[in-house]
Formats: sequence, C-alpha cells, structure tokens
Amino acid sequence: MDDERVEHREEESNAVRARFDAESERAARSVAPLAKIEHPWKRRERLKVLLIAVVVFALLGALVWFLSVRYGSQPVTPLPTPDAAREAVTPQPNATPLVTPTAEATPLPTPTPFNSTTTSPGNPSGLIIPVAGVRPEQLQDTFSDARSEGRVHDAIDIMAPRNAPVLAAADGRIVRLFQSAKGGITIYQLGTDERTVYYYAHLERYADGLQEGRIARQGETIGYVGDTGNAAPGNTHLHFQIYTITDPKHFWSGNNLNPYTLLRGSR
Ligand SMILES: [Zn+2]
Repeated sequence: MDDERVEHREEESNAVRARFDAESERAARSVAPLAKIEHPWKRRERLKVLLIAVVVFALLGALVWFLSVRYGSQPVTPLPTPDAAREAVTPQPNATPLVTPTAEATPLPTPTPFNSTTTSPGNPSGLIIPVAGVRPEQLQDTFSDARSEGRVHDAIDIMAPRNAPVLAAADGRIVRLFQSAKGGITIYQLGTDERTVYYYAHLERYADGLQEGRIARQGETIGYVGDTGNAAPGNTHLHFQIYTITDPKHFWSGNNLNPYTLLRGSR
C-alpha cells in the first residue's frame, strides 16, 4: 500500500513536474518572441533620440540665425550664408515673376521720339524732302560743290518754283529766324535730339505765325521758296543744310552731313 502510495506520489510528482516543464517551456517560448518585440522598441527610442537631436540642432541654428540677423554686423555667423541659402532654395518659384518684369521692361527702350525722325543724337533718319512736290530722284548731290572764296557748299540746293512750300524735314524747335546777306531769309531748326540742326535759306518769306521757340512738326510748312540772299535773281531754290552740334546754345555751326545721302531714300 505504502509502495503503492509512494508510487502514486511519484506519479503525481512526475505529472506535476511534467506540467511545470511544459509551463516553463511555454514561458520560455513566449520569452523568445518578447525579445524580438524588444528590438523595434529600442529602434523607436533611438529614433526619438535622433529626433530630439535634430530638433535641438534646428533650434540652435534658428537661434544663431536670429541672433545674427538681430545683431547684424556681428561676425558670430556669416550673415549672407542663411540669406544665400534661402535665396538658393527659392529661385524656382521666383523665376516666373522674374520673367514678367523683363517683359514689362522691354517696352521701356521702345518709346520712339515723336515721329521717330531721329534714331540717335546727331544721326538723323526718317527725314522728308523739305520742299513740297519734290521727289527723291529730282535731287542733285551738290554737297561737295565749290563756292566763292574757296568755300565748299556743304549743303544741297533743291530747285523749285517760287513760293513752293518749304516743309520741316523733321520735328524740331525753331531756334532762329534770321536774315543774312548770303542766306537771305533763313530758318534754323533744332531737332528733338538737340544735336541736329536743319538750316533753310533763300526763302521768299516765312510761313504765317512762324516764331522762334516754336516746335515745327515734320511736314509742316515753315516758309516758301525764293531767291533771297546771294542766290542769282530768279534762281529760286531751297538751300538746305544739315549739321550736328555739341552745344544747343551754339546752333549756328557744326559738322555738316550730306542732306542728299539722308534724303535720297526718303518719300
Ligand atoms: Zn546752296
């Protein structure tokens, strides 16, 4: 009986041990996956540390930047660097508005001086023949012709009947209405470039209401063809001269340009 009991107890203890073994085994098995779970948790912690470090660095950077901006010239950090970095980041969105101002800027150089008779100072273009009814092919190049006392003509004579309208060759101010022995009744007109002078001589008379200081528009009648001055009586023509000056106050002489060259291609 005792043996039986002992045997029984032994069986019992065996069963208990077996259960314990099984439990501990299960426990051990459940520990193993726990260790695996522990890994991502550690990674999360490492990430947290990294994030904190990043935030701290960012805050430090912001503080340094703030200080450098606030205390401007202090050489704590090179001020242009953050600014340059900011500018380097933004050019893409800024690139589009940059194009539009240039497009708006293009019309700026284009405003043509009224009637565009002169392209650049002292370089007249777009002139018209200053006598009504005269065509380009009727012009004669007398620019280099000799004149009395060893002078050179430095102008062209546009042959026309008496009282043919004399027209302003370009836009410009009437700077002087003058009568001289050689030129007779004359007009000095200063172009809008303030550098080109148009000289009209041997006029029969001035146009009504013509006054010094007035702006004459291109094509406007400013006088009438005649033979005043040293023109031979009855040799009615317009003596037309163009020259460039450096000072508008000294408008009576300058570098002569050949009117024939400038008018040959005109209307
Ligand atoms: Zn002449």
